[in-house]
Amino acid sequence: MSFSAIIVAAGTGSRAGGPKQWRPLGGRPVLRWSAEALLSAGASELVVVVAPGSESLAEEALAGLAGWSAVAGAATRAASVQAGLAALGAGAEARVLIHDAARPFLEAATIERVLAALETHEAALPVLPVADSLRRGADGVMGEPVSRDGLWLAQTPQGFRLGAIRAAYAAWPDESPPTDDVEVARAAGRTVAMVPGDPRLMKLTWPEDFAMAEALLPRRTRVGQGFDAHRWGPGSSVWLCGVEIAHDQTLIGHSDADAGLHALTDAILGAMGDGDIGDHFPPSDPQWKGASSDRFLSHAVERLRARGGRLVNVDVTLICERPKVKPHRQAMRERLAALLSLPLDAVSVKATTTEAMGFTGRGEGLAAQAIATVDLPA
Ligand code: MG
Repeated sequence: MSFSAIIVAAGTGSRAGGPKQWRPLGGRPVLRWSAEALLSAGASELVVVVAPGSESLAEEALAGLAGWSAVAGAATRAASVQAGLAALGAGAEARVLIHDAARPFLEAATIERVLAALETHEAALPVLPVADSLRRGADGVMGEPVSRDGLWLAQTPQGFRLGAIRAAYAAWPDESPPTDDVEVARAAGRTVAMVPGDPRLMKLTWPEDFAMAEALLPRRTRVGQGFDAHRWGPGSSVWLCGVEIAHDQTLIGHSDADAGLHALTDAILGAMGDGDIGDHFPPSDPQWKGASSDRFLSHAVERLRARGGRLVNVDVTLICERPKVKPHRQAMRERLAALLSLPLDAVSVKATTTEAMGFTGRGEGLAAQAIATVDLPA
C-alpha cells in the first residue's frame, strides 16, 4: 500500500519549553520516531516540514534514513501543512498521511487503519474515546458538566487523497486557522471516517510529558563485565576506584593505571556492545599519558546516556595482597557514586586476596573485575 506522508515539525514548542521535535527520547530525536515509523510502513515519499533555517537540524535528526526531504514551513501550522502538500510529487489520487512530530509513538497498526479507511472514505482520523468526566470551569472553580456522548480525542496521522486535501486547503478562509487537517477536509464537504487511535500516540505538549514518554519506552536490561590488571612499580601512592591511597608502590600504566576504573569502564562499554577502553582511548595516543581514569569512565557513561541508557548498579572487585582496601572502600564507593550519578547502594566495591597464589599473590600486580548493569531502550 504505497502512500505519501508529511510530518509537521515546524513548531516552536512554546508549551513544552522549546522545540520538542529535536529533543532526545530514548536516545533518538522525537522527530526520528515518526519518520522511522512512516518509512518502515512503506511511505514512498516523506516530506518533513521544519521551521525556516532548521533544515540542518532535520538532517542531523534523520541521518542515515533514506526517502525523506525537508521543506521550510511558515508561521501557522496550516501554512506549514500547505508547504508540505506543495512539495509532494505524487498524483492527485495518492493517499497522504499528515502527522505531527510531537506524537512519536506511531505504530504500524495505526498507519494501516488510517490507510485502510481511505479505501472507502475521503479522509480518516484516528480517535480515542474520552474516558474521564468532562467539566467546564474557570479560575479554579468547577462549572457545569459536559456530556462525553459523541466526543472523541483527535490524533494524527490524518489521512486524505492528495488532490482533495490540497483543494480543501485552497478553499479554507485565511482569517481563522483550522485546528487540524480533517477540519479543513470536513469544511470542504469531505466525509471523515473515524478509526481507533492509540493511547501511546500521546502528544508531547508539556515539559512533564517527556518523563511520561520515557517511562513508556520498552527497555531491556544488559549486563557487562570488565577485567584489568597492572604491574606494581616504584612509587608512593596508587589510584584505585578514583581514590588516591598512600602506598609504598604504584601501579604502572600509560594512564594513572587505576585498574578498578578501567575494569568498570570496560564493563559499561561491554553492556552496550560498544568495544573496549582501548578502542576509545588507544594507549598509542600520547594525549592519554598519565590521564586521570575518571575521564574514561565518564566517557563510557556519556555514550550510554547518548543511547538513552541508564546505569542500574555496578560492582567492582579489587584483587591484591596489599594495600589493604577495606579502610578506603567507603571513599571509593562515594567517589564512584559521584562519577556515575548513582545512589550509594547501587555502587559496590569489594576486595579479596588470592591467598598468596598467582601474580596478585606474589605481589607482581593488582587485578580488578567489574560488572555493570544497564538499562537501554529496546
Ligand atoms: Mg588498565
